[in-house]
Amino acid sequence: MAACERHRLEIAGAVQGIGFRPFVYRLACQRELSGWARNSLTGLTVEIEGAPDACAEFLSEIRDRPPPNSTVREVVDSRLPIKGSVDFVIRESQVEPIGATTEILPDLATCPDCVREIFSPENRRHHYPFTNCTQCGPRFSIVNSLPWDRQRTTMRGFEMCPACRAEFASSGDRRFHAQPIACPDCGPQLTFADETGRMLAEREEALESAARSIEAGQVVAIKGIGGFQLIADARLAAAIETLRVRKHRPAKPFALMMPDLDSVRRHCELSAFEENLLTSPAAPIVILPRLPGDDLPSMLAPGNPNLGIMLPYSPLHHLLLHRLGFPVVATSGNLSGEPLCIENDEAFLRLSSIADAFLIHDRPIARPVDDSVVRAAAGRELILRSARGLAPFSFGAALPPVLAVGGDLKAALAVTGPFGIRCGQHIGDLETEAAQNVFLRQTLDFPELCGVRPRAVACDLHPGYHGTRLAGEMGLPVVPVQHHHAHIAACLAEHEIEDEVLGVSWDGSGFGPDDTIWGGEFLLATRRDFRRIAHLRRFSLPGGELAIRQPRYAALGLLHEAGISVAETTLSAAFTDEELAVARTQIERGLNTPLTSSAGRLFDAIAALLGLRWHSEFEAQAAMELEFFAENESTGSELFPMPLDRDGTVNWEPMVRALLSDLASGAAVPSIAARFLETMSDAILGVARSVGKPMVVLSGGCFQNVRLLERTVARLRGEGFTPLWSRRAPLNDGGLALGQAAVAAARLRDKNP
Ligand code: ZN
Ligand code: ZN
Ligand code: FE
Repeated sequence: MAACERHRLEIAGAVQGIGFRPFVYRLACQRELSGWARNSLTGLTVEIEGAPDACAEFLSEIRDRPPPNSTVREVVDSRLPIKGSVDFVIRESQVEPIGATTEILPDLATCPDCVREIFSPENRRHHYPFTNCTQCGPRFSIVNSLPWDRQRTTMRGFEMCPACRAEFASSGDRRFHAQPIACPDCGPQLTFADETGRMLAEREEALESAARSIEAGQVVAIKGIGGFQLIADARLAAAIETLRVRKHRPAKPFALMMPDLDSVRRHCELSAFEENLLTSPAAPIVILPRLPGDDLPSMLAPGNPNLGIMLPYSPLHHLLLHRLGFPVVATSGNLSGEPLCIENDEAFLRLSSIADAFLIHDRPIARPVDDSVVRAAAGRELILRSARGLAPFSFGAALPPVLAVGGDLKAALAVTGPFGIRCGQHIGDLETEAAQNVFLRQTLDFPELCGVRPRAVACDLHPGYHGTRLAGEMGLPVVPVQHHHAHIAACLAEHEIEDEVLGVSWDGSGFGPDDTIWGGEFLLATRRDFRRIAHLRRFSLPGGELAIRQPRYAALGLLHEAGISVAETTLSAAFTDEELAVARTQIERGLNTPLTSSAGRLFDAIAALLGLRWHSEFEAQAAMELEFFAENESTGSELFPMPLDRDGTVNWEPMVRALLSDLASGAAVPSIAARFLETMSDAILGVARSVGKPMVVLSGGCFQNVRLLERTVARLRGEGFTPLWSRRAPLNDGGLALGQAAVAAARLRDKNP
């Protein structure tokens, strides 16, 4: 007999829930290797015994050609004495509660093989809405604890039928060790109920009833992968209007689900890159430019030239959209400001005022996972919301364990540990008590799922944030992190940069240590620390919060700071005399009139001065409209003057004066809007030149403005700078937790090396 050797391989990375054990099993059998494989908390442990060549091949296959959707981060290979084993087996998982480093996979959209099966009449899973395999299906939304095994998911209550068990146990089957495996005989089932929760139909009939309700113009609440969605016929203005009124969401765009790529192309421009985003295993909502003359009702996204589109990503969605054959609104199943519903009873209670009917099922959802939102910008994807399919994700080297609670808007969590930094899913705004309770649960759930006991908790510097209060109650050392530093640190962590950079942190608002509201900041920053070296000139916000919802007040504050009389501008039409008098008193006496250096508020103010929007119906609406207006304008070389003063103040006053005089002399609003955005990106370049750091990080919600991002990137590159911005995490407040975690872990690491 030829020489034999035995190896133990510790494989770390995203290797669970992806068919990795079956893959390993097949590899071993093909090469006549004996041994075993077992999921561990650190990933996968494999022992192989056989010919040296075969062992080497096995190892290189794992390193170089792992299964799709998996990531092998490290393989530790150690030699063991020969045991004389004869076959290869998959062992039960080993459970150790703390110190887990294995990745948690996000939920994966239905793979083409499974789609084919549910539409094949001869297949035993024909029309079965919970079909999945080792390559697709729910993961993060059903896992209760690691390692990834059926009994630790919400599928534990479903006992496999003999046919599923045979597939699960057969090494040649594509469902070999697919933990959430199910079929019509043994898996979850659909139920259709009216708005009172009365059950009206089951299984295929339930789906058919839901389809008929949607066709009849009703709103149907559907239990999806990570929570409920509200579905209505996107072609019917009346249905959309009803949904808007009932959901208390007057203007914010609704996302759509379309049956297939052809129907997407009928309504939107679609590049090959965007097509890849739509059809990726994450299957996010992709923001796409609407075709001119598109006939879908404008109230889907009022005043917005784009539509948020996704494709069916679960068998249930495939079956429903195939049956309907037309686009539907598919928006999160919650009342405005409230958390996403994930439980049936909770949905009947909270969504009965919105939905006419319910399509539910009996597979529990372990945690809320909303739909992700992405957009193509500057040649790659820009993550606007990281949730289903994208979260959680981790990267970087081992760090001391910290929990970061993010901000109060677009709240999300991050933890650090042996796996580096791991970012959780978008949870939502923490305005209501219900939302705060969901968030509290996640602060306990997420570290535990990651197998981490935090040694500290990081939060925003803002004393009034819900997350800050929560952090204070955890009985752990608290690390407050300045908002705009967190924005920059998030990007530094993601790109694994240790050097000092120029951080351009532009957003709506964040607590400044000098008791003003920051938001137009230039920071010299590392992951650990920062120094503010420049900022936009401050102006006052009469009415405080009111000025955020009503850009006309931001414009008033701007004019006052510049000493420009309102009466000389068209803004005077936005106010009654009485409103003006009250605001003037507020500014003069400093009553409820904070000072801000916010870029977001400057965008708002300019939008109001241009007459685009005096009242906003949702966050950043005015700034978005500036982008839309500028969209089709070429970038003229002409700029407004916006000097960088010697004390580090970027002075917008000359820009505002020039802009107003252009407006008064009849220049077109779109061309002024384009010049304004160009001027803002030039201001960034100006500071970059004076600072001279080669790397410039762009972060904060303002850079979701694609034109601002793309122009700034182009200008910086044009002068030899390296612009960096987040690729995997949102650069809005959804990325704050990541940044806070990076700052806190860096400080802890430096304290106890
Ligand atoms: Zn599949
Ligand atoms: Zn079955
Ligand atoms: Fe922010």
